[in-house]
Amino acid sequence: MYVRKKMRDRYRRFSFLTDLGGIKSAIGEARGIGFPPQPLLNKTYEPKSADPDLNEEWFVQTIKKKVADHPDNSMEFPFYGEKIYEEPLVGFVRGDDPLLQEYKRIIGPHHFTPEEIMKWQADKNGVPAPKAEDISVVSFVMPVTRNTKTDNAARKDWVSERWAQTRLLGEIYSQIIVREMVEYLMNRGILAIAPDVTPMFNKKRYPVVGWASPWSHRHMAYAAGLGTFGMHDFLITEKGCAHRVASFVVHLKLHPNRNRPDDIHAYCLQYQGIKCLKCKSRCPVNAISEETAHDKEACMRRVAASTKYCNTKYHIFIYGCGLCATGTPCESTIPEALLKKT
Ligand code: SF4
Ligand code: SF4
Repeated sequence: MYVRKKMRDRYRRFSFLTDLGGIKSAIGEARGIGFPPQPLLNKTYEPKSADPDLNEEWFVQTIKKKVADHPDNSMEFPFYGEKIYEEPLVGFVRGDDPLLQEYKRIIGPHHFTPEEIMKWQADKNGVPAPKAEDISVVSFVMPVTRNTKTDNAARKDWVSERWAQTRLLGEIYSQIIVREMVEYLMNRGILAIAPDVTPMFNKKRYPVVGWASPWSHRHMAYAAGLGTFGMHDFLITEKGCAHRVASFVVHLKLHPNRNRPDDIHAYCLQYQGIKCLKCKSRCPVNAISEETAHDKEACMRRVAASTKYCNTKYHIFIYGCGLCATGTPCESTIPEALLKKT
């Protein structure tokens, strides 16, 4: 995994050429290349008495600890030392949950099931592919900090500096901790894979859904009962919608620990018949409307255009926006009027 040299006390110069971490991250997301090789499965691992049980609680506590203590959960100049994320929410979904197959219809046939992605990993390691009922997805939501939310909520045009740093450094950090989890599991002889750092991962424009990737962390988080979608397409969780979502697949039977609402919009005021549309009023390019909700193409154009702004103003190679995820009633919680119903 690329470990970025963090800028502690000054800005990077000529970031559009020198911010190699940002450039690599953008290429990885767009083309699915440049990721380090997947860790290999240790086929001869001998269990030890001191090995922790790899149960649901172990995953919850290990991920929470990584977010609390990890040195890479840290911003750069001028916020060096501040954390990127706060305590995460962690959930699980079984590989044979019918919703995961249903995503082929809802998102598109290009979207991987956990079974398909796990087969790729099994083939690479020369072991039989596990069945869907024997695997699970571990999904987690990392809320951004109060400072980052406050900064972005104060913006009316372009992304704030803290949000831009979170978008880039948070992506790199998220891949680092998932890689550490996968490495640990593979070393213990348990197949695991992070789909978004494989060569199959790249965003494309598809006929019906527009820009999409073959593995949606957000849809996995919904499946795991961590939240539901808003008018802005962000996932509204008990800690709001200003966050980053990550997920990986593991050859273990983990039990879902949360209730999943059937209504995929259960936590959005507008969808629940309570007038809101605060997200619409936050969008500088009218990419959210009452009639058609989120216009992904218009949003994508605005977000792509922010790359120049982030390079010029913040000296990092990234794009971002998230204005509609901040300064809204769903920013940091399920809106109060709906909280009473949950
Ligand atoms: S701001 Fe209001 S309408 Fe928009 S996603 Fe949040 S709750 Fe829904
Ligand atoms: S993220 Fe997209 S939809 Fe949200 S405010 Fe920015 S441009 Fe608008």
